[in-house]
Amino acid sequence: MFHSTLKNIWLPYTQMNNCNAPIVAKATHGSTIILNDGAKLIDGIASWWTACHGYNHPHIIKTVKKQLELMPHIMFGGIIHQPAIDLAKHLANLLPGDLNKVFFSESGSVSVEVALKIAAQFWLNQNNNIKNKIISFHGGYHGDTMATMAVCDPEEGMHNLFKNIIPHQYNIPLPDTSEKQKDFIQFLEKHHKTIAAILIEPLIQGAGGMLFHSPEILRFLRKQADHFEILLIFDEIFTGFGRTGSFFACEQADVIPDIITLSKALSGGTMALAATIAKEYIFNGFLSDSDQHALMHGPTFMANPLACSAANASLEVFDQYNWKNAVSSIERQMKKELTQCKNLKNVKDIRVKGAVAVVELYNISNLNRLKIKFIQQNVWIRPFRNIVYLTPSFTITSEELSLLTNSIYDVIKQEY
Ligand SMILES: *Cc1c(COP(=O)(O)O)cnc(C)c1O
Repeated sequence: MFHSTLKNIWLPYTQMNNCNAPIVAKATHGSTIILNDGAKLIDGIASWWTACHGYNHPHIIKTVKKQLELMPHIMFGGIIHQPAIDLAKHLANLLPGDLNKVFFSESGSVSVEVALKIAAQFWLNQNNNIKNKIISFHGGYHGDTMATMAVCDPEEGMHNLFKNIIPHQYNIPLPDTSEKQKDFIQFLEKHHKTIAAILIEPLIQGAGGMLFHSPEILRFLRKQADHFEILLIFDEIFTGFGRTGSFFACEQADVIPDIITLSKALSGGTMALAATIAKEYIFNGFLSDSDQHALMHGPTFMANPLACSAANASLEVFDQYNWKNAVSSIERQMKKELTQCKNLKNVKDIRVKGAVAVVELYNISNLNRLKIKFIQQNVWIRPFRNIVYLTPSFTITSEELSLLTNSIYDVIKQEY
């Protein structure tokens, strides 16, 4: 019943009972994935948005090889190392304001867990044990672990299915109209004493539906958070590292969160790495004579030296080419070439921001069939729910990008 290569494998987000025969990747370069059978696919999504400079970037590979011979791993408890020191300093310099205190982990979900833990303990350390709830928004996605599921969109986080397991949080509509802003303020007036933090993916809510919102909403949230004494957390795991056109999405709103989470493109698409970065005053809230006030967290592979060296190299690569120009020409080209999809039946909306393009359909009746059709066109595009999207690497050529946009048009046209 299962394809032989799947005998011992449990795939993510997959009903294993009826999944497609898997394709097997052998190698990568640039924006190309080479399969075992020799077929080549142009990658439209940069391996879940990680490979920002394309695959196998020579500078990253060279740096990691050097680190591999020197020290592939060392525990981070009680001992530190140069790649982590350099990376923390580099991130603090790149981030706005005094987002200076970097806590490393090995996945995006864990970095969000750490952010939530920091937020709750920040108040606990002031003897406030009722300020422990999180506000998050419909359409949001923050990970798959128990605590992060509870702050995802109710459907994405399967709040109903897991209602007896995941903690209760406040998941409410994004205040993107004046009416909803009034409701939001009313909500805060009623509940602010119990709320530790507001959590949002700035500008683009990614895996929850590729929804865009304006920078004004982030300014509104900053204002309310300050007024009601609530922390503001930006999850820039998807939006960070140039994806929306600025290096961090928060720059476009001129808003500085109290805590920010980073992962995905952090290591240039090579290794598992994430970071939770806090402002100085948050960090200072953990300083005291009591061990009880310390942050009790420490993933075994946190700050892995290979991953940190990859991230340092990836940040250096950003200085080696004009990534900003690259992102805006990708944006322009996707806008232009996807316009033709407007005439197709079943297309509900087309939106582009930075190196993110979304063709939203009214419905996708058979996702598996759509996925196979893209592979048959030699492109790697993974529609989900009613969304077909592109998040290519910034180094993709315009010919490759045209192949992607044309295949979206062709496949949707064939299908509907
Ligand atoms: C992917 C993602 C996460 C989860 O990261 P993992 O590394 O998959 O645990 C959290 N937040 C956002 C915005 C993401 O895009």
